[in-house]
Amino acid sequence: MTELCCSRCSATYSPSELYGLSPCCKATLINKYELVLSREVLKDKPWTMWRYQELLPVLNPENIISMGEGGTPIFSLNSKIDGLEKQILVKDEALNPSGSFKARGMSVAISKAKEFGIKKCITPSAGNAGVAMSAYCARANIQSTVVFPAITPKIYIDECKAYGAEVILVDGLISECGKKVMEINSMGEYFDVSTLKEPYRIEGKKTMGYEIAEAMNWKLPDAIVYPTGGGTGLIGIWKAFRELQQLGWIEGLLPKMIAVQSEICSPVVDAWENKAINPSRYQASIALGLNVPNPFGLELIMQCLKESGGAAVAVSENEIRLALTGLTKKEGILVSPEGASAFAGLVKLVESGFITPSAQILILNTGSGMKHLVN
Ligand SMILES: *Cc1c(COP(=O)(O)O)cnc(C)c1O
Ligand SMILES: [Zn+2]
Repeated sequence: MTELCCSRCSATYSPSELYGLSPCCKATLINKYELVLSREVLKDKPWTMWRYQELLPVLNPENIISMGEGGTPIFSLNSKIDGLEKQILVKDEALNPSGSFKARGMSVAISKAKEFGIKKCITPSAGNAGVAMSAYCARANIQSTVVFPAITPKIYIDECKAYGAEVILVDGLISECGKKVMEINSMGEYFDVSTLKEPYRIEGKKTMGYEIAEAMNWKLPDAIVYPTGGGTGLIGIWKAFRELQQLGWIEGLLPKMIAVQSEICSPVVDAWENKAINPSRYQASIALGLNVPNPFGLELIMQCLKESGGAAVAVSENEIRLALTGLTKKEGILVSPEGASAFAGLVKLVESGFITPSAQILILNTGSGMKHLVN
């Protein structure tokens, strides 16, 4: 790693100091690396996301907090979509510790917290981020506080508590929880790991991009469909592809990045369609991870969609439900409502002709449907 870089003005900061947002613009800080490395470094490394350790920001490997996250499988769906010739690929992130891809980001963020000697971490969450942070903090012996919307299903709350976290409930969606976090942390006692307000979770999430490239023998699909909330997954995967290009590990066109949201909480889609965003108008989807009415990283999300030639598409709650039950019965994997949204969004883009018949598509099942079943 060489430096932290402000995503708005490109001012640089030392990677050996702890930052949240950039001091210059209060924007997301991005880790930059010296990208000179041979693919040979991967040889004989175990199949976890830490096989890309040289491209991750932990300085001393002894600080790595890992439970074998990453290395998730990619396989073909049985389900077909009319008008799409090739089988659709899925990357099943349900198989991560704590049951979602959020483990990747928290593995890096909490490793960095340990590296900086932090004692307390806090985050607002719609569900899985809080669970993942609690789990990784438990393993790192760091105190954790999670602020959830009061409507969060009890199982997420109980799970955080089981890991020893303090849980605070707030009326409203995650934006209200974010305000509560700032209030609690007004003295700066905690490391605030809110989405894109610290530089490390995105680094963990980008490993999904490395894994897609490596598993497909460094030939990327034509489009990647991602159920988008705060946007770290999307931005992270795109960052990974850009880095792989600079490393010379991949060639040719990069995939179109496609964000899928619920119609009832669709700030990314609205921004993409140049419509006004009114966070107070949005409601809670059954796809909890998508309930982010006012994503802090909206600018970076738009940049990723534009640069990749991608799109943003909204699906109805009913389309999510139908995709969820249909897929789970046919595929034998516990699809999450978020993963089902991605599939439903793909159906729409094939219908509209945005996705051409010969395209190779990869969708992400970002988390397990288990907790949805229990509700
Ligand atoms: C958090 C979450 C999302 C949204 O991911 P972002 O990177 O915040 O856009 C999607 N699916 C699941 C299961 C999640 O937990
Ligand atoms: Zn700046």
